[in-house]
Amino acid sequence: MSMPWPVVLVGAVVVGAGLGALHGTVAPEPPNPAAPAALPAPAPVAASSSAQPSPTAAPAPPPAPPAPPVPPASAAPPPVPPSPVPVPAPPAVPAPAAGTVEVRRTLPPADTPTVALTFDDGPHPVWTPAVLDVLARYDVTATFCVVGNQVPGREALLARVVAEGHVLCNHTESHDYGLPVRPEQQIRADLQAASARIEAAGADVSIFRAPGGRFEPSVLAAARAEALTPWGWSVDPFDWRTTDPQAIVSGVVEAVEPGSVVLMHDGGGDRSATVAALATIIPLLQSVGYTFVGLPQ
Ligand SMILES: [Zn+2]
Repeated sequence: MSMPWPVVLVGAVVVGAGLGALHGTVAPEPPNPAAPAALPAPAPVAASSSAQPSPTAAPAPPPAPPAPPVPPASAAPPPVPPSPVPVPAPPAVPAPAAGTVEVRRTLPPADTPTVALTFDDGPHPVWTPAVLDVLARYDVTATFCVVGNQVPGREALLARVVAEGHVLCNHTESHDYGLPVRPEQQIRADLQAASARIEAAGADVSIFRAPGGRFEPSVLAAARAEALTPWGWSVDPFDWRTTDPQAIVSGVVEAVEPGSVVLMHDGGGDRSATVAALATIIPLLQSVGYTFVGLPQ
């Protein structure tokens, strides 16, 4: 975030040195360089709490030095040794639950600002081609999280996604929100079926996104067994619940930062607002130095 981005005014959205300055605002506002920058995102709870060790976690004092030889009763009392210097507790290192893998939500560090657009729930015969057209117009690579049971009859469309260089992600065969409570073999079979659809389109698939982001231990264990890396997201403009493209634009540009993974949808309903928003979001972010990348595989 240290690069000196210019302030860019597009429509009613302000981006640039103050990309984060619109956090929390609802109504668009004109740029105001004198306004104080807004609030940075709160630090993760785990990180801040580690700096304040709880009383029960306080380090034990070092063992007392060996007792000096007992002087004769007539001698002066020995000098009191200095108090030991308190040793701060080491920071807590959170460990993932046993038997699971960690869910990735942001891109690895890069020399220049990167962002990943991800589109879930397709392929869809109307919205997927519309999204692809916008991506092609701006020469942008994205990631499509495919629902296997949406593929039959749309194999050529999925092949187009692959041919245009986008990354394919397994979003399960059935998009079953109840997946976490299914038997292990059923979860794995669901993942295998979706992977087979994607591979039939000519793509490798090594990444996975759980329906509804339900990365629960049973789902993570199945993903690991299928050698799929789970990927969540870090920016959610809730494109599925609005018909207002501007709301989607604001939801992305007010939250995005280098390494962000943005969740959007090319299936599951009318995505005209998503398509319209995309045509603003992409050039806007490109104008302040962002490069769009697919999720790492
Ligand atoms: Zn989904």
